[in-house]
Amino acid sequence: MIPPFFYNTNPARIFFGQGALASVADEIRRQGCRHALVLSTPFQKTEAEALAAQLGELSAGIFSEAAMHTPVSITEKAMSAYEAAEADCIVALGGGSTIGLGKAIAYRNDAPQIVIATTYAGSEVTPILGQTENGIKTTVRDAKILPEVVIYDPYLTLDLPVRMSVTSGLNAMAHAVEAVYAQDRNPISSMMAIEGVRALRDALPLIVANPRNVDARGNALYGAWLCGTVLGSVGMALHHKLCHTLGGSFDLPHAETHAIVLPHSASYNAKAAAEAMEPLANLFSGSIGDGLYDFAKSIGAPLALRELGLQQAQLDRVADLAVKNPYWNPRPVERDAVRALLQRAWEGARPE
Ligand code: NAD
Repeated sequence: MIPPFFYNTNPARIFFGQGALASVADEIRRQGCRHALVLSTPFQKTEAEALAAQLGELSAGIFSEAAMHTPVSITEKAMSAYEAAEADCIVALGGGSTIGLGKAIAYRNDAPQIVIATTYAGSEVTPILGQTENGIKTTVRDAKILPEVVIYDPYLTLDLPVRMSVTSGLNAMAHAVEAVYAQDRNPISSMMAIEGVRALRDALPLIVANPRNVDARGNALYGAWLCGTVLGSVGMALHHKLCHTLGGSFDLPHAETHAIVLPHSASYNAKAAAEAMEPLANLFSGSIGDGLYDFAKSIGAPLALRELGLQQAQLDRVADLAVKNPYWNPRPVERDAVRALLQRAWEGARPE
């Protein structure tokens, strides 16, 4: 029997395909806009400049100072640039950091957002914004934050470095792993989650072998879209709480942290959510924790939190913070068990 469920969709327009970048001008006009501020990180400034040139009169210029964790000071600078340029919409070109800046602007002035996603983090399809001020990261959820248009063009991901592709892909999978056991899951979110993990499982080894394999890049981006979509529609649990703690309070890098913690958090919940996780376990030789660990190792992902600079002496504090105000989780969040999980993740040991 299918149990009763609620199903909410986030109303974004998605354009997926090789060469989809060429549609940005049409999408700006379709939003009723005519002057777009193009956003990027300093690292992707050249691509942002090329896009602004492609847009011609539709470009209001570029702002290329997007940074990880969306610092409010940078958002304020970008708001000034937006107003000075008399922009009427945002074009964000990049990963979660650039997309976060676009969302932060839209949260303040409701600017329409056209997002061109170039990593697998999934932020482009969620109504969630995390922003940092005075070292404190807060998260808001609001309909204004959800981008109106998302463009996925596999060509733009050909130069995403292999290590970033691997960790970002595992970051995407983590959304889907938590979605299949979410308290508010439904048959559609679970279907998307399983298909997203399958697509990434197939694509990532091919990308490691040849980063410019455009078909594999397309499959990975397709998987990332599905995984991001479930992140935006159902609740997340222990895995995301651990990564938010490690990122927010210990400044660990986002995608790498997700990649390292995932086999351990999946293993923690494997028995309690066995039925919901079975289709995913089957994608990884029948054992979700071991299977994800072996998969991550086979594609060269980092395996140990100590590689990211976390000190063993900090693990007690991480455990204390992670069990404080826990997110709902299928298995009770017990301090000693979480501390043991963190120890293994810190060492890079196989999950329990
Ligand atoms: P990122 O956006 O920080 O990108 C990392 C680096 O890679 C940047 O220098 C970027 O310019 C570069 N880069 C991106 N795409 C590239 C490409 N195709 N080729 C070459 N270089 C490229 O990394 P991320 O993991 O995508 O995003 C992390 C941030 O996103 C974190 O702050 C995280 O909290 C946030 N996030 C938010 C949500 C949400 O729903 N609110 C979801 C996921 C992530």
